[in-house]
Amino acid sequence: MVRVIFLGPPGAGKGTQAQVLANLVQIPHISTGEILRQEVAQQTPLGLEAKTYMDKGELVPDALILEMVRGRLSQSDAASGWILDGFPRNVSQAEFLTQLLAEINQHCSAAINLDVPEQVLIARLLGRGRADDTEETVRNRLVVYHQQTKPLLDFYHNLGLLVTINGDRPPQEVTDDLRQVFTSLTSQV
Ligand code: AMP
Repeated sequence: MVRVIFLGPPGAGKGTQAQVLANLVQIPHISTGEILRQEVAQQTPLGLEAKTYMDKGELVPDALILEMVRGRLSQSDAASGWILDGFPRNVSQAEFLTQLLAEINQHCSAAINLDVPEQVLIARLLGRGRADDTEETVRNRLVVYHQQTKPLLDFYHNLGLLVTINGDRPPQEVTDDLRQVFTSLTSQV
């Protein structure tokens, strides 16, 4: 059973790699950013509220995110494992997740950090062309990452769950390393 959190700054390749690995091992890829973008596209009340934060590169308030994640992890497909991409994003989300997993009797296998230098991230993000990838928003997303998300590296290191992978390589090489990590996790029970 593989239940993995993908950590790493915006532009590290989390979404791409998470999708590839999820297909390989046939478990759901749960991206909070993707769920939010669908809510925005459908103009739901949640989407309309979330958009104001997403457009600025800010985190959407926990109050809007936490129950969304609880709901998603409680769906039947998540019983066979999952890859979380973009959640948790701050320490209170990580504490919530720890508590939620205990409640639903699931255990996180690993938190994988895709490590990529800052100047590579900026170039990648500006080349991507997503609605929230303007230069100002990109810079703010990186500031938010350093302030709020990076502390999770210590959080998961202290839990003995952190695995760091060099993400500044051709995507296929990163995928190969991730496959090895997943194989070792699968054989752990
Ligand atoms: P992502 O696709 O993960 O880069 O997320 C895009 C945007 O969605 C972020 O810049 C945030 O505004 C919002 N977002 C995604 N996941 C979260 C989360 N776990 N907590 C708060 N905001 C989030």
